[in-house]
Amino acid sequence: MKIVFFTTAHNSLSQRAFVELVDRGHTVIVVIASSEDVMLEAVEREHPDLIVAPMLKKVIPASIWQQHTCIIVHPGIKGDRGPSSLDWAILNACEEWGVTLLQAGAEMDAGDIWASRTFSMRGGSKSHLYRHEVTEAAIQGLLETIAKFESKTFVPEPLDYSRKDVKGCLQACMKQADRAIDWAEPSASILRKIRCADSFPGILDTVLGMQCYLYDAHEEDVLRGTPGQIIAKRDGAICRATGDGAIWITHLKQKGTDGQPSFKLPATHVLGDRLDHVQEAPLAVDQWCIGRTYREIWYEERHAVGYLHFDFYNGAMSTDQCQRLREAFLLIRRRPTKVIVLMGGTDFWSNGIHLNMIEATDDPAHESWRNIQAMNDLVRELITTESHLVISALQGTAGAGGVILALAADCVYARKGIVLHPHYKGMGNLYGSEYWTYLLPKRVGREKARELTEALLPISSRTAQQIGLLDDAFEEDAASFREHIRELAEELASSHRYEPMLEEKRQARKNDEERKPLQVYRNEELQRMWLNFFGADRSYHLARKNFVYKGLMPDHDRGDERGRTGGHVEFTAGHDAGWHYGRQPARDGYCGRASMTAEILDGRAMSAEMKAELRGEMRRFVEKQGQAPGLGIVRVGGDAASGVYSKTILRVAADVGITAHLEQLPVNTSADELRALLVQLNNDQAVHGILVQMPLPAHLSQKMVAATIASSKDIDGISSRSVGNLFLGLPSFLPSTAAAVMEILERTHTPLEGRRVVVISRSNVVGKPLGMMLLQKNATVTICHSYTTNLAALTRQADVLVAAAGRPRLVTDEMVKPGAVVIDVGINALPDGGIVGDVDFASVREVAGAITPVPGGVGPLTNVVLLKQCVQAAWQLAGEKKEWTSTACQISAYAGNDADHWHRMVATHTIVSASWEIAKPRFK
Ligand code: NAD
Repeated sequence: MKIVFFTTAHNSLSQRAFVELVDRGHTVIVVIASSEDVMLEAVEREHPDLIVAPMLKKVIPASIWQQHTCIIVHPGIKGDRGPSSLDWAILNACEEWGVTLLQAGAEMDAGDIWASRTFSMRGGSKSHLYRHEVTEAAIQGLLETIAKFESKTFVPEPLDYSRKDVKGCLQACMKQADRAIDWAEPSASILRKIRCADSFPGILDTVLGMQCYLYDAHEEDVLRGTPGQIIAKRDGAICRATGDGAIWITHLKQKGTDGQPSFKLPATHVLGDRLDHVQEAPLAVDQWCIGRTYREIWYEERHAVGYLHFDFYNGAMSTDQCQRLREAFLLIRRRPTKVIVLMGGTDFWSNGIHLNMIEATDDPAHESWRNIQAMNDLVRELITTESHLVISALQGTAGAGGVILALAADCVYARKGIVLHPHYKGMGNLYGSEYWTYLLPKRVGREKARELTEALLPISSRTAQQIGLLDDAFEEDAASFREHIRELAEELASSHRYEPMLEEKRQARKNDEERKPLQVYRNEELQRMWLNFFGADRSYHLARKNFVYKGLMPDHDRGDERGRTGGHVEFTAGHDAGWHYGRQPARDGYCGRASMTAEILDGRAMSAEMKAELRGEMRRFVEKQGQAPGLGIVRVGGDAASGVYSKTILRVAADVGITAHLEQLPVNTSADELRALLVQLNNDQAVHGILVQMPLPAHLSQKMVAATIASSKDIDGISSRSVGNLFLGLPSFLPSTAAAVMEILERTHTPLEGRRVVVISRSNVVGKPLGMMLLQKNATVTICHSYTTNLAALTRQADVLVAAAGRPRLVTDEMVKPGAVVIDVGINALPDGGIVGDVDFASVREVAGAITPVPGGVGPLTNVVLLKQCVQAAWQLAGEKKEWTSTACQISAYAGNDADHWHRMVATHTIVSASWEIAKPRFK
């Protein structure tokens, strides 16, 4: 099935659902549903069999759910409604909670029920519950729903509060006031409050005079103090006394001053010297302790097996954490055990270097360097361990260097539900280290390693196992997984194969070292990382800031980075978890990867602006002429792309008030029949513009069409007269795609005069007409095409680069001058059903100053430009030849005449009407 996801963020649940459905052979398109338009366009383009909303905060438009089955994954029991479901369930100490899959309808969360699952609530934060119980229940419910949907016979059950099993109700959005803490309350109640706000939005509180949001709380059974007092610190966390005991809080986010954003950091880091008077309460990794407490790294031993746990918040590992973990590993390696199991944490195994801590230092480049060196030192100890067999046991998600850390062990096992991100590049093209060039190909082969690091996609534990990244994946829940690991490790330690395996490992390491020493891998990787951290390309630093600040850059950084790149900096929200999740969609609204440096030129917003202008123009026309302009669209045969385009034009025409109709002809229509229809439309007084959809079937000639359409109705500028007029700088109808590019350049005030513009295309609809329009704007234009040699050398010179070759991702970052404006005209369908442009958006956005996405760039403007020309045609046919309002048209009207006027117009961009009346006498 073709399944479209509408999601607010491609979070852990959405990613897990994605990999599960892809593994089952479905085509899944993830749409970041930022607006109704994004959803409408996605549906129109993709024609999905089913729509699923794994985590959606927006309402699905009625026109979509009325025609398509839309399944909402709601993290609540049957009947529960509202945006704070889990928050209330935790705060109210519910013993049982659930997930319900319901159909989208007129009322939020009140649609018919397809499936529902319940689970027992246990302690733990909202994010922890979400990553485990909620995700597992949601995946089971989703698979059940899909099976029911495919059966075509299942009728979902209407929400009926009189039913016994419908126990939920509508709940309000939880406010900070509902969460407020009184430190005299018992620990259990405070813990629930912090946990129900973790990892978002956090609880706002005052700590030692500082306003902070609190995150990640843990029980403490021994330490005591006056309620509210900070009584100890350990591993970056603070211990605070409550009414009946104390709790640990590991992370704080200072409330931003003057509206400036801030980010989560270890509590001791945020509070700094305010904690000088507070005692450290050290606890050695192997120290036994009474009752519950908090520590990041701990060790336990049983039956010749040592278990090293390292539960770092969000899986991020700072320089200090890497060093402490390495020391712990060295300590336990001296123990007379046989097997060491690296347990990671329950939610995260590891996500590599700690971007928040790096960002918090005065010299992030230097700290990045220290952090990666510390990671490498740790990985090196694992690789070179000859005294023990080492197992990596991934209970939680892993990403980037965290995945590679796992591969340094001899056996790698994972819990079934986890998702892996074995790549670095999404973080501002980071090359990565941790000896990945040694470890990854060794496991999956060179080709697969390249694929994984380039594709930047999440993979399931199932796929990871199939390709050899994991040795095995088992058990859905963390407790059973730990038990299974324990059995495996003990079996290995007592196995007669233990000694031969150890010997085999020593020999293999020796051979590998002789072939290519580990240090050489490290040096090679670090050479590339040095460029990432200290080189001229600031992509990594920008991407890190974007991730850390979740898209909300502080003012001082915005200015700083803008100055350095010469381009604009625009950030969008990231995600809370591992840094590989922080990337936003590569295609606007579509999930992929990229960190942001370039300003995104939003074609949809410009199109909305143009539509509003057009509606005003329409009102004037109807007032004066008593009827709306008419548009005739002719389509011959069933080309899919032209079908979508026709529908879009009809929709937009209806939206702005133009009377449009589609003449759909069969594929075997003869040239005479087509000509006859065009003549009929030429003579039809109600039709003011004619558009013939391309491509035509092979037996019909475009030339004939261009020669037949009346030039007065040739609103897509294909006739010889239109083309000739454009060439001469006379007012003319323009090919709408080329004119749309000009509209974008104009509306974004992109300077063209004297600038170098490179256009990749010499086609009649894009390259050639665009070249003419740009020349008329006094740009220095270079037209490239399929015979151009050394294309990159030319494109690298471009201040403005337009790609319209119809070649997916032809333009890569190396082909773009830093800070250039890049306009992507290409629309290329991929075999997986995705759409990409001619520009490799993910890499180019790291270099360019501004870039149009695909979809959402040139496309949305093309049809509005066409309709605008239809209204202009209608004015002219009505005898009013003065409304040449399109930017490109004004330029045509003035070219080569009144130089001063022309320059003024180009400079100010304010003149709306380049009057035909002014231009006409000069061209007679
Ligand atoms: P076309 O095939 O007529 O022209 C492609 C041009 O690119 C040619 O001039 C060719 O020489 C050049 N070219 C091809 N490969 C090249 C290469 N490797 N190096 C340099 N030049 C190369 O195509 P077209 O009809 O002009 O469409 C081009 C792209 O624009 C397509 O992807 C199409 O889907 C898209 N398009 C988008 C819109 C829109 O509204 N956004 C409208 C029309 C076309």
